[in-house]
Amino acid sequence: QGTLYVVATPIGNLEDLSPRAARVLSEVAVIAAEDTRHTARLLRHLGLALPMLSLHEHNEAARVAQLDVRLVAGENIALVSDAGTPLISDPGFVLVRELRARGRRIVPVPGACALVAALSAAGLPTDRFLFQGFLPAKGGARRLRLEGLAPREETLVFYESPHRIRDTLADIADVLGGRRVVLARELTKAFETFLDGSAEALLVRMEQDPDQARGEFVIMIAGAEPRDAPEAGDVEADALLGALLAEDVGV
Ligand code: SAM
Repeated sequence: QGTLYVVATPIGNLEDLSPRAARVLSEVAVIAAEDTRHTARLLRHLGLALPMLSLHEHNEAARVAQLDVRLVAGENIALVSDAGTPLISDPGFVLVRELRARGRRIVPVPGACALVAALSAAGLPTDRFLFQGFLPAKGGARRLRLEGLAPREETLVFYESPHRIRDTLADIADVLGGRRVVLARELTKAFETFLDGSAEALLVRMEQDPDQARGEFVIMIAGAEPRDAPEAGDVEADALLGALLAEDVGV
């Protein structure tokens, strides 16, 4: 049987396509792409002309059987999305789940991913983070989601579009107050910017320079301060005191 390669593509800078990704794309029988016109540009850049078929949220389930027949026949297939790593806020989950359930060989070809690139340069804790994809588009649902996340101590990470960035920052200011926010904009592209400050301060910055509200964003927010957990020494002291008191009672 053939292999499904899940291939990460650049999020802006074409140099971020790995040599392995380029080789795999050149060797497969067919590329399943979120948007074939978009991927055609990448293939032209690589000097490749390969058969493609579309795979997006509306036809993904229907594509499973079709692609499975080709794998069983021994063909290798590449799955790509418009930018970055497939399945990460992009199509591909249903295909991978179904093909894995059928015992097919699925191989990741890692590369760019906006959330990882953003975290790697933000200076917020990365030992534990909570990636939440896109927040709800409607204000009420968005604020509810933020309220639910408020007690979480991990760094919070979201994707956001330029249409909603100001509304979302305003909601973050309302719900999460003065927390530190790092905004990674246009990663790997000509106007890559990191803005760092409270959500209120970032909104002021966008008022002063509307260009700061354009492009693609990763929003990262500092987690909640750790709750007052007893320290190990305190626990031991409490246990000792408890034991002594128990003895006293016995005397
Ligand atoms: N699969 C992609 C990945 O691996 O990062 C994410 C796809 S998702 C549909 C698109 C969102 O990712 C954008 O709205 C933005 O939030 C984020 N994103 C993608 N490219 C970016 C970039 N160059 N700079 C900042 N954010 C980016």
